Amino acid sequence: MKSMLLHTCCAPCATYCFDYWNHEGMAITSFWYNPNIHPFSEHKQRMEALESFCATSEVLLMVADDYDIVSYFRQVSGHERDRCRYCFLLRLTMTARVARLRGHTAFSTTLLISPYQNQALIREVGRDIAAREGIEFLDPDLISGYGKSVQMSKELGLYRQKYCGCLYSEWERFGKVKL
Ligand code: SF4
Repeated sequence: MKSMLLHTCCAPCATYCFDYWNHEGMAITSFWYNPNIHPFSEHKQRMEALESFCATSEVLLMVADDYDIVSYFRQVSGHERDRCRYCFLLRLTMTARVARLRGHTAFSTTLLISPYQNQALIREVGRDIAAREGIEFLDPDLISGYGKSVQMSKELGLYRQKYCGCLYSEWERFGKVKL
């Protein structure tokens, strides 16, 4: 059986994605590395929601050693308007490297389900990393499962965030501005 490290952005997106990969016959390990989520209390809340969902769905969860917020701000500094590219680069490079070290055959991300993310950019960044790190990036179109993931997460009572993650996205969401 092929095995994959699945970067997981949050529990709601994990619901449908876990089912999808299980149906594909892929052995998945969920990987939490999201230093783009601010502030720390929000990061903790989203991580705990994923921990509880992984426990009930019997999916192995691997959590990165620390919050790594400094890496996030260093990565996007000077690129605030184009920050998502650098944010994806940070999170998916870590995922690819950990996947390779653990002997997985591929890596992917639950970000591929979200209509709020730039899907073309995720694929561009993911494929570049795959070529550089020498491990396959699996990038199926999962957008059609988004509605189902919302329904599943409501039924399970999972915590659902109100903004993407970084302080910039929180400001854009609640300040009704565009950086
Ligand atoms: S908006 Fe979301 S994807 Fe873009 S940099 Fe912020 S947290 Fe990352």
